[in-house]
Amino acid sequence: MMIVLRKNCSLKEKAQITRTIENHGLAIRVTETAGRVAFIVLLPPTDEIVDALEKHAGVEEIRRTPSCQLVTRDHSPEPTQFDVGNVTVGPNSLVVIAGPCSVESPDQMLETALGVADAGASMLRGGAFKPRTSPYSFQGLGERGLELLADAGQRCGLPTITEVLAPEHADLVAQYTDVLQIGARNMQNFHLLQIVGEKNKPVLLKRSPMASIDEFLCAAEYIAAAGNSRIILCERGIRTFERATRNTLDISAVPVLKEMSHLPVFVDPSHAVGKREFVPPLAKAAVATGADGLMIEVHPNPEEALSDGRQSLTLPQFSEVMKQIQNLANLEKRDICPAERIATSRSQS
Ligand code: PEP
Ligand code: MN
Repeated sequence: MMIVLRKNCSLKEKAQITRTIENHGLAIRVTETAGRVAFIVLLPPTDEIVDALEKHAGVEEIRRTPSCQLVTRDHSPEPTQFDVGNVTVGPNSLVVIAGPCSVESPDQMLETALGVADAGASMLRGGAFKPRTSPYSFQGLGERGLELLADAGQRCGLPTITEVLAPEHADLVAQYTDVLQIGARNMQNFHLLQIVGEKNKPVLLKRSPMASIDEFLCAAEYIAAAGNSRIILCERGIRTFERATRNTLDISAVPVLKEMSHLPVFVDPSHAVGKREFVPPLAKAAVATGADGLMIEVHPNPEEALSDGRQSLTLPQFSEVMKQIQNLANLEKRDICPAERIATSRSQS
């Protein structure tokens, strides 16, 4: 619930309103909306408290927004920006996360890391705990995978991101990686969302293929309500009747999410479309619609990949797509972050 105060609300009235809210056992966060002070209460409003608040002269409006508040533009009109190592996530940059679906071996991880860094990627990905449809498919290397990812990230100078599959892995994963990824299948694992919300690491939240935009934002709200405001929303395709592609990239989710929420919005074209030849056009579409970042699967030898080889770009293909994306970003005066490293890698080539 959001309680918007009148412009001329006195300090005494503010204190009285605060007391009314606190007497109902509710905690308050203070924010500003359209130049007005507003109190946010992180619980669904009861009729009783709404009645009590309406009696205060200092209250202009009570907005019943029970499902999500912290992640909305009402709460923070300005876009959220934060740093991950030397990478700035936010409205003025374009962040490209690249790497294999799964961490498979030291050589595979290092070759990919050096290749994507050279092509100008911002961050390195690689799954160590894999959510696989079949229990007989490769499930990831676990902690060994985390070690290999961290090592490769260090050697090529890129921050890393990997998925937290279960609450009991959260501390371990947070020890090794810079960003915690919540996979599409776990988007509504509310317990897991709360756990990563308590960690001191940014979280990239994938949209479930079954989730509406409202449900997606409510999932992000769980993380924010647990105290973590460094959240990236990632659209990765939803399930529709269409079978020609793995999922259907909901490209309209990009501008819609950016209007509803102040959080950065990324797009993962690889899991959306499922076929490598369609990844570059979707990556470009994402940049054109205002996505703040991309997540792209890359493998040095996709035919031998232990997961998602069909959708993984080769290193030369990734290099090519990076040039196309940068050309597009130039039109909007955006640079793939961090800009200095790209400049360096270009001047060396
Ligand atoms: C992944 O990024 O490795 C992954 C499993 O993606 P998603 O959760 O979107 O399916
Ligand atoms: Mn994958």
